[in-house]
Amino acid sequence: MLQVNSFVFNPFAENTYVIYDETRQCVIIDPGCHTSSEVDELLGFIDLHQLEPLMVVNTHGHIDHIMGNEAVKRHYGIQVAAHPEVKNDILRSRQQAMMFGLPMVEECKLPEVDLTDGELIKVGNSTLEVLCTPGHAKGSISLYAMAEGWVFTGDALFCRSIGRTDFPGGDFEELRESIRTRLFTLPEDTEVYSGHGETTTIGEEKDFNPYVAV
Ligand SMILES: [Zn+2]
Ligand SMILES: [Zn+2]
Repeated sequence: MLQVNSFVFNPFAENTYVIYDETRQCVIIDPGCHTSSEVDELLGFIDLHQLEPLMVVNTHGHIDHIMGNEAVKRHYGIQVAAHPEVKNDILRSRQQAMMFGLPMVEECKLPEVDLTDGELIKVGNSTLEVLCTPGHAKGSISLYAMAEGWVFTGDALFCRSIGRTDFPGGDFEELRESIRTRLFTLPEDTEVYSGHGETTTIGEEKDFNPYVAV
């Protein structure tokens, strides 16, 4: 069974997740660590628990979710996996970071590994399924851990909210459709780990999310 540890990084209060199982293999979802102390916090956790990182997975290409990619990649010699459509956001990321007054020390490179809908990512004895959930950004994915009843939604779905759709590549109707057809079809007790804010469940969001009528 998987375990999860979450971190809140960078001025956007982005949630970074490390998930690992009894084999100690782990993946890092959306390393948003920006300062060196944030990088140390993430790497320190991985090292303290003697985890073996397999890859970084980006749920989408916005800067708050990818700022730590290069530091983590370099430290562990691993690759970054994402949907191929995140490319434009990643190419724009340095400019976007400047716009937000958060200069990135180094350019974020394009992901090395392409993820597609339905693909299974093995973490030790455990599995994550890639669900395409576009609408907040091009190439947005969620990661579903069926055995644990968890879904990592990036910025598609939040507790009582949904991701912004006013950035390039955003589309409000597409996002609502993604949530209705890919997330709200998961079991109601599925725990939702979002890119920002607290956890929730699919059932609670079906009942109370004001942006997506069931
Ligand atoms: Zn985003
Ligand atoms: Zn975000």
